[in-house]
Amino acid sequence: MKITPLEAWLSRSIVTNGTGLSRERIEAFQLAKLRETISWAKARSPFYREYLAGLSREDLGGLEALSRFPFTTAEDIRRQPLRFLCVSQSEVSRVVTLQTSGTTGEPKRVFFTIDDQERTIDFFHHGMSTLAGPGMRVLILLPGTVPGSVGDLLVKGLERLGAVGVPHGPVREASKTLEVMVKERIDTLVGIPTQVLSLARSSAGKAAPRSVLLTADHVPDAVSKELRRLWGCEVFTHYGMTEMGFGGGVECEAGKGYHLREADLYVEIVDSGTGKAVSEGNLGEVVFTTLTRRGMPLIRYRTGDVSRFVPGTCPCGTVLKTLARVKHRLRSIRSIAQGGWLSMTDLDEAVFPLEGVLDFSACLVRSQGIDCLRIEAQTMVPDNQQGVIAIQGALSVIPVIRSALEKGALSLDVSLLPKGQTVKRDTAKRVLLDLRD
Ligand SMILES: [Zn+2]
Repeated sequence: MKITPLEAWLSRSIVTNGTGLSRERIEAFQLAKLRETISWAKARSPFYREYLAGLSREDLGGLEALSRFPFTTAEDIRRQPLRFLCVSQSEVSRVVTLQTSGTTGEPKRVFFTIDDQERTIDFFHHGMSTLAGPGMRVLILLPGTVPGSVGDLLVKGLERLGAVGVPHGPVREASKTLEVMVKERIDTLVGIPTQVLSLARSSAGKAAPRSVLLTADHVPDAVSKELRRLWGCEVFTHYGMTEMGFGGGVECEAGKGYHLREADLYVEIVDSGTGKAVSEGNLGEVVFTTLTRRGMPLIRYRTGDVSRFVPGTCPCGTVLKTLARVKHRLRSIRSIAQGGWLSMTDLDEAVFPLEGVLDFSACLVRSQGIDCLRIEAQTMVPDNQQGVIAIQGALSVIPVIRSALEKGALSLDVSLLPKGQTVKRDTAKRVLLDLRD
């Protein structure tokens, strides 16, 4: 098994005298970078000057002392994005505006300098060598027309690898994208899980790429399995978000979770209720601090994603940490029928194994005095009562749904979208919406 190429990347970023990489060296590097970040942010960002009043780099005696520093939230960025800036606006080379699904609040704005973007290109270059190599052609099913967009930075990273990135943008019509895959002789796809599944199911086994990288949303196991079955390709997943500078971590061949971008990010797992660190291996909220960001560093940023560090060494043998695949987002786990919790992941794992399902949306509403789970699915064969029955059946075996149905405390409302209609959502992230009030 090939060791994650991120190890060599991290080694080059950290080790200056050519000796080996170890956890101690990584952590010493991260501590020094955290101190630099704190000083930089406090000296330059009006937000952090106020937020970190009474705290300084001297308070960071060791990594564990970071817990004394307050969290930064998405709401903080939404409210006053410009106050995070540590450089003049003329030094900002890229502003990303993020809509948040299911809320009507202000969008988030995130700023990057040329140097910040260079760090991302460098990470993409090495991260992509997990699954792509010289001469390979990679179709990018992510936004990529604007300079500095995720697709654009990925093309640049691939170029350094000797591979060719072919920008495409999100899939609008599966048949058209499949034609492009054949015409462009595509070896690898990078895209959103449901969109890639939809391509594979529409392809009848044709145009199969050698490998696929799924990103921008949580990846149901059911989707990875289906892609392997339909295309016989290797499937890798990437974890990242705009606030991380797009890239956060990528799986190695062992497929046990993401190896993290440890030269640029320091990641913690905390109890979302108490804010305290969880013990090694336990689930909690992913929190990160940027280590090299100049334009808009983030200190202890709460992602809202739930995961854990996988204890022990990855089978690939790296010293890098492994973050388990993110399965849930905090705001997407809903209490139903006055007992039990339901998440989008539960629904995904039940519905995506069904043949012909391309995508679906889910929301909770109140109907006739009880909770109702409303599913709108996009399928290969629309107007098909069998499809509705199959989805209802798959949902009914999810334990929390089964028990609520038995108590008469929940109803299901499943419908299929008409031919040609796709599931509409504001972002790539699929969430279980709560419209009960
Ligand atoms: Zn590994």
